[in-house]
Amino acid sequence: PAAPHAPAVVIGSGYGAAVAALRLGLAGVPTLVLEMGRLWDTAGPDGKVFCPTITPDRRSMWFRTRTEAPLSTFLWLDVVNRRIDPYPGVLDRVNYGDMSVYVGRGVGGGSLVNGGMAVTPPRPYFSEVLPGVDAEAMYGTYFPRARRMLGVNEVDRSWFESTPWYRFSRVSRTHAARAGLGTVFVPNVYDFDYMRREAAGEVPRSALAGEVIYGNNHGKRSLDRTYLAAALATGRVTVETMSRVRALRPANTGGTGGAGGYVLTVERLDLSGRVTAVDEITTGRLFLGAGSLGTTELLLRARETGALPDLDPEVGRGWGHNGNVMTARANHLWDTVGAQQSTMPVLGIDDWNNPTHPVFAEIAPLPMGLEHWISLYLAITKNPERGHFTYDAATDSARLRWTRDQNEPSVAAARSLFDRINRANGTIHRYDLFGGNRKFADDFTYHPLGGCVLGRATDGYGRAKGHPGLYVVDGSLVPGSIGVNPFVTITALAERNMERIVQEDILG
Ligand code: FAD
Repeated sequence: PAAPHAPAVVIGSGYGAAVAALRLGLAGVPTLVLEMGRLWDTAGPDGKVFCPTITPDRRSMWFRTRTEAPLSTFLWLDVVNRRIDPYPGVLDRVNYGDMSVYVGRGVGGGSLVNGGMAVTPPRPYFSEVLPGVDAEAMYGTYFPRARRMLGVNEVDRSWFESTPWYRFSRVSRTHAARAGLGTVFVPNVYDFDYMRREAAGEVPRSALAGEVIYGNNHGKRSLDRTYLAAALATGRVTVETMSRVRALRPANTGGTGGAGGYVLTVERLDLSGRVTAVDEITTGRLFLGAGSLGTTELLLRARETGALPDLDPEVGRGWGHNGNVMTARANHLWDTVGAQQSTMPVLGIDDWNNPTHPVFAEIAPLPMGLEHWISLYLAITKNPERGHFTYDAATDSARLRWTRDQNEPSVAAARSLFDRINRANGTIHRYDLFGGNRKFADDFTYHPLGGCVLGRATDGYGRAKGHPGLYVVDGSLVPGSIGVNPFVTITALAERNMERIVQEDILG
């Protein structure tokens, strides 16, 4: 029998994918979304959809027997990670030798696990990174559209100044100021009205109960509540979960390079991770929104196995980790950060205009329910190094080529900033948190970017070069760095590109 056909298929359901699904649905195109993770809408035995952070269970991580949290130890003790049963949990850590990448799994992708920080990059840096994109249109139209659709809001300043839940941010702000550094408030997609009601004891706690990396049970405007809900409401979009796209090839209806559409090989997974069926689906238009790692792997595999041999040599290149480095400082005993900490960051130290070492450092929470005198930061640095992916035929997977020494520019920038803050405050680094007595955690990232860079692997709107009907819509378009937390940029870029694609390729 002929494979089932969908006029449009979107692979993944993160930011880029969710924008594509909505815009296709609104254009009247029947669209199938294929997501390898589950739909997070059903409560477990504890009555909650997501598991607690301090006592994680199988819902926490993607098919693991033990959790792999970013902060692995405290006072060098292995107190953070727990044994768990394998299950399609919401957070994955993809380990590639010298670099590990955290990603979300499930309907909503990274929006299910991230810190919600909704930051628009400084315009000069956006133009430096993506010179081919009209910044006027981005800042006038698509960034505002993305922020509105994502439900971005800001913390009430007077509440921020008085609540114990943000004492940790205020302490770090004071310490930065002593070193002559300014901080900026950062918008978020977490509903701050809900958070205030959490603090008042009126509603169940989520951000104030340590929830974030394994999912928020309340308060977070994740994509399943925003873009994806709107996409489903068009009546044109359907989502199939536990459906991992394994391969794509051109449909052999006479066209070359995909002119006749594409055939997808889709593995249907059960909750134990077993492949219960392998289906083929054909489509005329294929939108890749599987994230920097997922999209790049699918296209690299297609090129290297000969399924789509003419995909551009730039596929697999231009990857970066947005200069991510995590670090922590030990405060004086009189500088308490508080046992109560909200998991949603709202302040960043802005030293991006530093001529030698640009850094935008998010003041991150470390909610342990006890006073620990730690100030934690996720530094975003400007690192010119780029990695690339190679296809490993033996395992049929993509390998990231990134070596530890490529982090050196990031570590040097973070060291310069935090040495300055430590000097001004008479404080020191913590080195018991990241394993190996390290002050700087440079072995993982939350911000994988690139692999199918806009204007190089694709045209200026994400169309795969020479392959009609094949589009890239996610973070793999961004060339390795954007200077701030990336999801607002990924969303706004997808809005810009989808508007053009719908006009020219679908309605036109
Ligand atoms: P993703 O959101 O990664 O979505 C890709 C989806 O595709 C996933 O659901 C995945 O399961 C699915 N998929 C992958 N491969 C396949 C396949 N073969 N078949 C089917 N489905 C597939 N960014 C910010 O801006 N602010 C923050 O505060 C922030 N905090 C973060 C905290 C954490 C812990 C993490 C992990 C990330 C954070 N990020 C943050 C980063 C942000 O979440 C990502 O940049 C963003 O999610 C990337 O969007 P995307 O559209 O590229 O893909």
